[in-house]
Amino acid sequence: MATATATPRRAIESGVPDNQPFLHPTLKRNYGNWKYHDRPRPGVLHHVSHSGEEVWSVRAGTQRQMDVHTIRKLCDIADQYAEGHVRFTIRSNIEFMVSDEGKVAPLIETLTKNGFPVGGTGNSVSMIAHTQGWLHCDIPGTDASGAVKALMDDLYEEFVKEEMPNRVHLSTSCCEINCGGQADIAVIIQHTKPPKINHDLVANVCERPAVVARCPVAAIRPALVNGKPSLEVDEKKCICCGACYPPCPPMQINDPEHSKFAIWVGGKNSNARGKPTFMKMVASGLPNNPPRWPEVSEVVKKILYTYKADARPWERLSDWVERIGWPRFFEKTGLPFTKYLIDDWRGSRSNLNASAHIRF
Ligand code: SF4
Ligand code: SF4
Repeated sequence: MATATATPRRAIESGVPDNQPFLHPTLKRNYGNWKYHDRPRPGVLHHVSHSGEEVWSVRAGTQRQMDVHTIRKLCDIADQYAEGHVRFTIRSNIEFMVSDEGKVAPLIETLTKNGFPVGGTGNSVSMIAHTQGWLHCDIPGTDASGAVKALMDDLYEEFVKEEMPNRVHLSTSCCEINCGGQADIAVIIQHTKPPKINHDLVANVCERPAVVARCPVAAIRPALVNGKPSLEVDEKKCICCGACYPPCPPMQINDPEHSKFAIWVGGKNSNARGKPTFMKMVASGLPNNPPRWPEVSEVVKKILYTYKADARPWERLSDWVERIGWPRFFEKTGLPFTKYLIDDWRGSRSNLNASAHIRF
């Protein structure tokens, strides 16, 4: 009896997987051959190929952390209306591709009926990018997705309409490492007290040299406490960044009272019209107040609606601040200005790479 020859499994290379097998057939056939695109309505992109083929991408918002039932529902909708294909944008909007114009309106109706608003294109407030939070990461000081859900509920109208001066990207991050990256407006945890050390656990859990090396301001020293090897923190030097907590959990920095929220504005990743920009902190010390974080939403809305009313057409939030200047930003938004909000680190210009261009 013949036996089947086993095919050795190919090594998995690191890096981005090839997207071709996952593309909608119309996108695959017309890859790199698009003639133009337009937006027939908020939430819908229409691409026309040189071959004459057309495709409509319908963009929708979700509640962010999705359970398996929600994902199945979205997949069922994709099977019924979008030839079984979806994709997620960089801000985690879900997009359904449709090659038949007649299916666009029923798809929008079904998505809306099921609680997935259609929007997020053009000059709207797109879905808020958020970091992993308690579900996947081991160091969050809050639930980033919860703060996002509360904020998106308030900004629903700005997602389904395109009435902002330019696109607006928002993000939240649940620790100061800020894996949420740069955004027009960002909500980021801010620790305000140095870590509390559990000296009984340090020797068993932490690689002490690694923790000492991790501190950006050299505030951590090895120490013997009650006869056991441990660590100590020079609290005058500590900037409460939380970088020591991931490699050494006994250096607990999360605190229900002293871990606050800060709001940063003016970040941008793209090179369009101006170079990428880093955010600046404009509000701090806001309470970490689940489940709806109303104080955070209030400050974000204050900034967003001042920008909407005052910016010129096509100004990104950073362009608007650049034009009016920081003193006017604080006057117009009514946010209190303190000396702690001034970015006066002179070394940043040469140390931080503030441009996406290669420099030698
Ligand atoms: S922001 Fe910090 S806590 Fe939140 S997911 Fe990223 S690294 Fe983890
Ligand atoms: S919180 Fe940051 S600055 Fe403070 S001790 Fe830890 S690593 Fe150093």
